[in-house]
Amino acid sequence: MKDEILRLEQEARKLEPNSADRMAARDQIIEYSEDFLDNIESLRAYVSTEAKGRGLLGSPITEDGIGVGRALDYIRENVDTPGLNPASGGHVAYIPGGGIYYSALGDYLADVFNRYAGVFYASPGAVRMENMLIRWMCDLVGYPEGSHGNLTTSGSLANMIAMVVARDGKNIKSAKIPRSVIYLSKQAHHSVDKGIRVAGLGECILRFIAIDDKFKIVPADLERQVEEDKAAGLNPFLVVASAGTTDVGAIDPLIEIGDIAKRHGLWYHIDAAYGGFFVLTDEGKQKLQGLELSDSMIIDPHKGLFLPYGLGVVLVKDVEHLKRSFRFDAHYMQDAFAGPDEISPAEISPELTKHFRGLRLWLPLKLHGLAPFRACLDEKLLLAKYFYLEVQKLGFECRLVPELSVVVYRYVPESGNANEFNKKLLEAVVADGRVFISSTMLNGEYTLRFACLAFRTHLKTVDTLLEVFRENIERRAVRSQ
Ligand SMILES: *Cc1c(COP(=O)(O)O)cnc(C)c1O
Repeated sequence: MKDEILRLEQEARKLEPNSADRMAARDQIIEYSEDFLDNIESLRAYVSTEAKGRGLLGSPITEDGIGVGRALDYIRENVDTPGLNPASGGHVAYIPGGGIYYSALGDYLADVFNRYAGVFYASPGAVRMENMLIRWMCDLVGYPEGSHGNLTTSGSLANMIAMVVARDGKNIKSAKIPRSVIYLSKQAHHSVDKGIRVAGLGECILRFIAIDDKFKIVPADLERQVEEDKAAGLNPFLVVASAGTTDVGAIDPLIEIGDIAKRHGLWYHIDAAYGGFFVLTDEGKQKLQGLELSDSMIIDPHKGLFLPYGLGVVLVKDVEHLKRSFRFDAHYMQDAFAGPDEISPAEISPELTKHFRGLRLWLPLKLHGLAPFRACLDEKLLLAKYFYLEVQKLGFECRLVPELSVVVYRYVPESGNANEFNKKLLEAVVADGRVFISSTMLNGEYTLRFACLAFRTHLKTVDTLLEVFRENIERRAVRSQ
């Protein structure tokens, strides 16, 4: 038996490359990533390839490994080339993400040391660090002592957790579901609806509240519907507002909705995945008043703090709600909970074993300090205003003054189908590839979007986009003469 064990050990030890092998692999990977970062300004924001990454399938998972160089070739050709380049400042579509470098180094350390961040007993420092970050975010949005939250992988998961907590917080058991009512607007992010269904609330009554011409919830309509539902013997229990909608960047009237929620005993959830971190700016802080009135909210550091993908946050005003939804008891964990003086993520979240994702947030915040984050957010607000003014000079219509950093605009040609014209413009911008934009439908009209949140988007990017538009409009005008 020992011979067999030793034979297996010899094979298994290949999982532990020696110092020279580690350095060789690291050098190649660093060189590959440095080449990317050194050239990021000239790389296209969107690349179409014929194969769309199909080359990966030609190298199935087998018993034998390949060299780092070959692995990187596969990654370069199939993963890091086709499609959207979210690290590019030219990404001004959807809601851009980030990719600040010190986060990558935080992930590297988290992965090498692999601290067990789910339980205080296992890694008191990792849990303290994550709790401290959550406390910092609670303070930012004006949540009191006794609030807490989860670091999740994304805003969608954070919304899902909030729906579960709202359900339990308002004691919505299955028998009550068919007469329980949720209020939201058609502008709510689709992950809210997903969260509602995953939380088992798909058979609740969903009431869509009227929105005004700025795509914001009309509080009076919310109140009217709640009162009618109460009078009809239904059970209104949850309202969801947005602090920065994905479509147009609109902030719902957070304070008025908060008042109505309080008067009628509704759970108040705010989706601030996109807009939340603008509280770091004076302008954003002013516009986001009322966040503190919510019972739960979500914010996305992988959007508003420019982190690489993989970090969303749900905050809950009263930690007791989190404990109630996610408590657990398991005899094999009996040692782990002997008198912790910090709450462990495992006690208040759906996860047990988890990535130590706090480090990817802590490291850049500590190394940079907050000042450049604030400046970057203020820059984005101003770039949106600049784009709004300049794009109108090219003849585009902008019906909405940008509230945060999303601008919606549309060109109305003298003749022909405006929807088609704008679709062609978008295609031309995407084909050019330096800047990547997206579109939406507003009141049945095909409308272009400029969403400025990538940390690498600067004045030069915006001027490039304006230039691409100018050339295309001129070319089209010449052709139609
Ligand atoms: C992006 C976004 C979400 C979803 O967050 P993910 O991190 O993409 O899962 C939810 N709500 C709003 C308003 C968003 O912009």
